[in-house]
Amino acid sequence: ASVFSGLAPQAPDGLLALIGAYRSDPRPDKLDLGVGVYRDARGRTPVFAAVKAAERLLVEGQDTKAYLGAEGDVGYLEALRPLVFGARAQADVFGVQTPGGTGALRLAAELLAAGRPGAKLFVGAPTWPNHEQIFEAAGVTLATYDYFDAASQTVRFEAMIAALATAAPGDAVLLQGACHNPTGADLTKDQWRTVADLVAERGLFPIIDLAYQGLGRGLEDDALGMRLILAAVPEALVAYSCDKNFGLYRERTGALFAACDHPQRLSKAGSNILALARANWSMPPDHGAAVVRTILSDSDLATMWAAELETMRQRLIDVRAALANHGPDLVALKDQNGLFACLPLTQHQVGRFRDDHAVYLAGSGRINLAGLTVEAVPDFIRAYQTLRQ
Ligand code: PMP
Repeated sequence: ASVFSGLAPQAPDGLLALIGAYRSDPRPDKLDLGVGVYRDARGRTPVFAAVKAAERLLVEGQDTKAYLGAEGDVGYLEALRPLVFGARAQADVFGVQTPGGTGALRLAAELLAAGRPGAKLFVGAPTWPNHEQIFEAAGVTLATYDYFDAASQTVRFEAMIAALATAAPGDAVLLQGACHNPTGADLTKDQWRTVADLVAERGLFPIIDLAYQGLGRGLEDDALGMRLILAAVPEALVAYSCDKNFGLYRERTGALFAACDHPQRLSKAGSNILALARANWSMPPDHGAAVVRTILSDSDLATMWAAELETMRQRLIDVRAALANHGPDLVALKDQNGLFACLPLTQHQVGRFRDDHAVYLAGSGRINLAGLTVEAVPDFIRAYQTLRQ
C-alpha cells in the first residue's frame, strides 16, 4: 500500500496564499499587512548595513567551512549572553545555536516531552499559530490561557492568571517575552511580576519565546519580563531569535537557552539539548550566527546595528501613533509593541478589506504595522471604519 496515500492532506500556509493574491492584485494603492517581516517606509526589507559590513569581514576572514559542533557557533552564544540576560550574564545558562527561533522552540518542545512525559503546555489564546503546531508535533499536550480581547484591545490578565492557577505543578507555560505575536499587547512589569510569582508558587515550567528583542520598548526593556521569570524559578527555557532584530530571516538564526540554578540538572539539560539537536539537524547553519557574532564582538558594528534597530523601532512607534491619532478605537495601539496588532474583524470583514479596499491581512485580523506608512494611515483608517459600520 502507498505510504503517501495514507496521508491526510494538509492545508497550505494561509499567509503564503495571501502573498500570491497580493502579488496578482493590479490595484496600485494595495497594502500588504500580512506577512510578518519588517518593512521600511518604502516597503523594503533591506539587509542591515551592519550585517553587510560583517558579511564582508566574513568573506575576507573566514578560512574554513569545516563543521562546527552541535552547539553551533560558541562565540555567537557568548556574544548573545549579555544582550539577552543582561549584566548578570547568567552563568547558570546553557546555550545552543538553532535554525531560527522555530528550531529553538522545536528543541524546547522535545526536551519538555522527554523530561516530563504527559505534561501540559499552556499557550496563550491567541498566540503565533506555529506554536501549537510545533509543540503538538513533539507530542506535547496543549492547554490554553485567555490572553487578549480584541474588542477592547486589552490583555485579559485576570483570565490568564485564573487559567494558570488551574495548571498542575510540573505543567509548562509558554510566554512571549516582548512584541506579542499576533496582538502587540505585552504584559506590564507588574503583570510580569505577578506571573513570575504564580509560576514559581505553582511549580510551573516556563518556556519564554523572545523573537523580537529591541523592536518593542528597547533592547533592555524587551528582556525584562523574561529576566523576572528567570529570577523567580529554578529552571526555564528561552527560545531566542535573531531573525527580526538583525533582519536575518532566511539565514535562520536562533538559540535555545536552558537556565537552571542546579549545576547537575543544567548539565543534564545541556547534554539532552545537544543530543536532540544532533537528531534534528546535526549542526545548525553557520552564516547568520557568524554575522551576529561578528557584529556583537566589534563595538563599531554593534553600535551601527543598535542604531539601525532603533530606527526600525521608531518607525513602528510612529505608525502606531498615527493609527491611534486617526482611529478613536485604535488608541490602545500606541501602548502596544512590535510589528503586530489584532483588529476586531470577522473573517468576512477581512475578505471585504481585501476585495473593496485592496488591504491584505491575515484571517485572524492580525495586521503587520510595517506594511503601513504614516502617510497611508488616514486612508487605511477610513477603510477600516467603513467596514466596521
Ligand atoms: N516566535 C514568534 C512569536 C514568532 O513570531 C516567530 C516568527 N514569526 C518565531 C518565534 C520564529 O522565528 P524564526 O523565524 O527565527 O524561526
